[in-house]
Amino acid sequence: MSEFLPTGIQLTYLVASALFFVGLKQLGSPATARKGNLVAAIAMLIAIVATLLDRQVLNYEMILVAIAIGSIIGAIAAQKVAMTAMPQMVGLFNGLGGAASALVAVGEFWHYFGSTAHAPLSSTITVLLGVLIGGVTLTGSLIAFAKLQGLISGSPILFPAQQIVNATLLGGFLVGSVYLAATAPSEPIFLALTAVSLILGVMFVIPIGGGDMPVVISLLNSFSGLAASAAGFVVSNNMLIIAGALVGASGIILTVIMCKGMNRSLTNVLFAGFGTGEGGGAPAAGGGSTGEKIVRQVGTEEGAMMLGYARSVVIVPGYGMAVAQAQHAVRELTDQLEKLGVEVKFAIHPVAGRMPGHMNVLLAEANVPYEQLCDMDDINPQFEQTDVALVIGANDVVNPAARTNSASPIYGMPILEVDKAKHAIVIKRSLSTGFAGVDNDLFYHDKTMMLFGSAKDMVAQLVSEVKQL
Ligand code: NDP
Repeated sequence: MSEFLPTGIQLTYLVASALFFVGLKQLGSPATARKGNLVAAIAMLIAIVATLLDRQVLNYEMILVAIAIGSIIGAIAAQKVAMTAMPQMVGLFNGLGGAASALVAVGEFWHYFGSTAHAPLSSTITVLLGVLIGGVTLTGSLIAFAKLQGLISGSPILFPAQQIVNATLLGGFLVGSVYLAATAPSEPIFLALTAVSLILGVMFVIPIGGGDMPVVISLLNSFSGLAASAAGFVVSNNMLIIAGALVGASGIILTVIMCKGMNRSLTNVLFAGFGTGEGGGAPAAGGGSTGEKIVRQVGTEEGAMMLGYARSVVIVPGYGMAVAQAQHAVRELTDQLEKLGVEVKFAIHPVAGRMPGHMNVLLAEANVPYEQLCDMDDINPQFEQTDVALVIGANDVVNPAARTNSASPIYGMPILEVDKAKHAIVIKRSLSTGFAGVDNDLFYHDKTMMLFGSAKDMVAQLVSEVKQL
């Protein structure tokens, strides 16, 4: 049995790893994402059970208590947390992942510290990597959580010589690490290095604006994977190394996708102090004229007629739909329009909302069929033939300035070309700006009608008006 167990465990790890790949592949499409999530969860269960069967596990009682507590917290969080609060929940969980990896590294250091033996260089390096990445992930994620939750200001916190302070801290960590590797394990130096890692996490995230936190959380998610991988090397566990590497790789891919969707480089996100998350200054709500610009308003009755008598309608959801939780009303509007023979599609921008896949998740929750959701590249050529584009709480992702105004901060960002549709109806509460804080020329186009109000109320009123057509 003792001969068989390690081989059996390694084979089980192989199966779990293969299932992780299958799960990740399926998570790549909205149609298979739920299945992918389940497959990956089963893979994790298999990996955990195999690890528990390992002879190195000494105390099953404590592990079972921890699993029970973790499962309860996870189940409650998954049920209770609002979809708009998902980024900060992911941020918090990432931080705990980083903390777990750092603790594994700390535990391993104490293992050597307790013995008189000199730790092998490879172990010292992996322990220190685990502490550095795990520590940065923990405190960085906590700051990201606090910014998104409004516990601290979302504004970038900048001070003179910030980069020099950061470089000094990192340099100090490297010098201390070399000293630790060259001499016998030293408790004070190790504790100092752990403290520096924790401070580095705070310093990394405070200069970044609250609105950029989803990108930071995705990057920290990648870090938490790397920390887990480092922990895997520390305890010589292949499963942890593979699973950590997968999280590290997918986190960085997602970070790059998000940056591309915003047409910004990762360096710009991390160091430009962009985005407070509160939007910028707002012109007044209501119709009439704002300076030279003319705003055309529409009521729900006229709006319903435009939609009901159209042949094709493209709905463009954005952050405002998520805030208003209007997705179910939107589904109902779609059903009513389809009863009238209108062809309805949804245009999904990769960074609409505040997290990747935000719109997909909300529309899936409201049972909008996946086939109706169109990616930006597929839908953009279709806008010219679209009778009405209905924009619900989206702003930056439909701002033509990204195409036409080279002075605009969002110039170059790929957008949904709503301005090319025959008519556009925009539902939002005012003319205020979105995340990027820039005014939107779409609101003043002669083909655009503004329907001012909260998305859920306005869509519900449209539904009842469409029913009467
Ligand atoms: P925006 O942030 O550009 O605009 C959202 C609009 O929703 C606001 O202008 C607001 O206008 C309106 N709104 C708010 N509450 C309501 C409500 N209750 N009813 C109706 N409207 C409402 O959103 P977009 O989705 O267009 O763009 C996303 C932005 O977030 C992009 O700039 C993107 O780069 C950024 N971002 C996205 C990430 C992602 O992963 N998805 C990550 C990080 C940033 P008003 O107040 O007038 O109602």
